[in-house]
Amino acid sequence: MMGTELSVRLWHEDPEQGRALVEQFFAEAQRINLLMSTYIEDSEISAINRDAADRPVTAGDELFRIIQRSLDISTLTRGAFDITYESVGQHYDFRARARPDAATVAENLPLIDYQMVDLNPARSTVKFGAQGMRINLGGIAKGYVVERGIDILRVAGVRHAVVSAGGDSRLLGDRRGQPWMVGIRDPRVDGEVAMTVPLQNEAISTSGDYERYFDEDGVRYHHIISPSTGNPVTGVHSATVIGPDAVMTDALSTSVFVMGVDLGLRLIATLPDYESIVIDDEGRIFFSDGLMQP
Ligand code: ADP
Ligand code: MG
Repeated sequence: MMGTELSVRLWHEDPEQGRALVEQFFAEAQRINLLMSTYIEDSEISAINRDAADRPVTAGDELFRIIQRSLDISTLTRGAFDITYESVGQHYDFRARARPDAATVAENLPLIDYQMVDLNPARSTVKFGAQGMRINLGGIAKGYVVERGIDILRVAGVRHAVVSAGGDSRLLGDRRGQPWMVGIRDPRVDGEVAMTVPLQNEAISTSGDYERYFDEDGVRYHHIISPSTGNPVTGVHSATVIGPDAVMTDALSTSVFVMGVDLGLRLIATLPDYESIVIDDEGRIFFSDGLMQP
């Protein structure tokens, strides 16, 4: 679902109830996907993308709030995280190895601008400032699914669990007396991990240039787009962020990827609850100040 694999692991005294909670999580993920997927023609977000340049479009509470949060993170990251990246991003099709030519990128680049998304909280409407603008929540929706999953489990009294959606995970408690061991993928060797991090009660997200991509003439065209150039970001192979909230770690891992090692780690240094591990395009590994080097 959502172009990725969802998983949930939990301990429960009662196997029946445990299984029911797993089902409840998948149903919830499905519900969120129907709101937020740009691939589903009658999703709420598709209606916004179709009509918001012409007139204010009403968004449901939940979608409105996640768009609002996305714009707040744009402010925090000075535009590195920008859901309007889709104005250019929509012209990629990674499966078909299709990408926009330079003219298409140049023409649509001015439409990547979160400040041109006008939210009206009183009316719960979204309006775009220009024709051709699009939004896509791919950099934050999986973190949201993970948070919702954890909420479901926590309310049901589960105390040890891990919920993942692709590169985004959140851990509830520990692994019954041991920390959870979370692997960070080697960005260039399939099936290998670059390192393993012991964690409990935290969220962890990794953004990589190996999730959705194709290579052409030695250039990797991948799914994380620089809002300043309209092209896939260069310089970083993966960015991981660890912290209390999966919505934030998801959006921040995308943001740190876009900002690069220096600016990205500088941003993380201003956020006391968040840490980061960045692997650059030479395979060098950088840690934020709050993490001990192994
Ligand atoms: P993944 O776990 O699939 O690697 P990420 O959290 O790294 O996902 O987010 C990548 C997704 O974010 C892309 O597929 C795209 O939908 C979206 N995206 C790409 N560039 C940006 C950007 N500059 N700001 C916000 N979202 C982006
Ligand atoms: Mg992310």
